[in-house]
Amino acid sequence: MLFAVSYEQLQCQVPTAPASDATPMVCSFKCTATYQQLLQNCVAPGTRPVIVAPNVNPYDEFDEVIRDIKKDTLNPYDLSYTFASCSTVCNAASIMDPQDMQIIYYNQDFLNKIKINDASVQWAIRCIIAHEIGHQVLGHTLPANGTNISLPEKRKRERRADYFCGFVISYFPGATIDNALAGLETLNDGNYFPKTTQQEDAAEYPTLDNRMEAVRDGFNQARSGDINIALFRSIDSVAQILYNKYGSSQIFRVVDREISVNNFEGAKEIIEANLLKSGNSIYQNKLLQIRSDLQKKAVLTTSPAMLENIIKQSKKSNADPQRIKQLQLELKKNNAAVRE
Ligand SMILES: [Zn+2]
Repeated sequence: MLFAVSYEQLQCQVPTAPASDATPMVCSFKCTATYQQLLQNCVAPGTRPVIVAPNVNPYDEFDEVIRDIKKDTLNPYDLSYTFASCSTVCNAASIMDPQDMQIIYYNQDFLNKIKINDASVQWAIRCIIAHEIGHQVLGHTLPANGTNISLPEKRKRERRADYFCGFVISYFPGATIDNALAGLETLNDGNYFPKTTQQEDAAEYPTLDNRMEAVRDGFNQARSGDINIALFRSIDSVAQILYNKYGSSQIFRVVDREISVNNFEGAKEIIEANLLKSGNSIYQNKLLQIRSDLQKKAVLTTSPAMLENIIKQSKKSNADPQRIKQLQLELKKNNAAVRE
C-alpha cells in the first residue's frame, strides 16, 4: 500500500502554557500544536462547513461513530463532543476548552492526503475519530488528568485510546480486524517511532505492534462479549477481568501492561501466581526469565514460602536446572535476610 502522508503516531502533548492551575492535555495524532494555540486559532465550531472531500466526509463519519456508540443500551456517556475542522491541528486532537467544552479537532487537508483505497480511507478516518473519542471518554483531556504525566502513563493512555478504537469499530456490522487497524496501518510506512520495545521506554507512545495489539484486543474482546462500553468507566479493572478469564494465554500481555505503568509489584504477583500453576517447561522458563528481567528493573522481594513453592513447581514442570539453581540461591539469600 502507498501512503502520501506519514501521519505518524498519536501522542498526548503537555501544553507549554497551562491555562489554569491544572494543565489541560492535548491528545492528538502527532501534533506540535499546544493547548493555547488551539484555543487561539481554532474557531469555536458553529455551522458545519460543506465538505468537498475527495473520499469521505469526516462529519458524516463522526456522526456515524457517535450514533453507533449510542445504539449500545449500556452506553453511560452523553458523548456531547463538538467536532470541528482546524488547520492548526496537524491531523486530529482532543481537548477540553476552558468552558469545559469537549472538542475533537481534525485537519481536513491531512485527511484528504490519506491515499489508500476509498474504503480504507473511510475506516482510517473512523479509527482516528474513535481514538480521539476514546481520549475524551477515558478522561484524558480533563484538566485534573493533565499534570505530571509520565511517559509510561502517556503510553498507557495511547494504548487505551487504541483499545477503545478497536472496541468502537466492532460496532460496525461486518467490520473486520483489518478495518479496525486501518488507522494504524497508515502509520506503517517505516518511519514510525518507537520501532523497538527498547526505544519505547523513552517514547510517549507505544510501538506500532503494541498499539495494533491494543486495537485487536479491543475489537476481539468486544465481539466476544468480554467487555462492554460501561466498563470503560473503570478501565483499570478491565485488564484484571481479562486476566481472570484468560489466565495464561493473556499473561504476557497483562504483565507487559503492568510493567509499562511501572507497576512492578503487580507484574511480579501475576508472574508468581502463574509460576505456581504451570506444568510446561517452556512456559515455566519463560515466566522465570520475565521474573528475572523484572528484578533488574526493581527491587522485589518474594517470601521464602512462595519461593519454595515456585521451586517445587519449577521442578515438576521440568524447568531449566540453571533457572532452578538461581531460585535456590535467591531462597538462601532470603532465608538469611529473614534470620538477620
Ligand atoms: Zn492519542
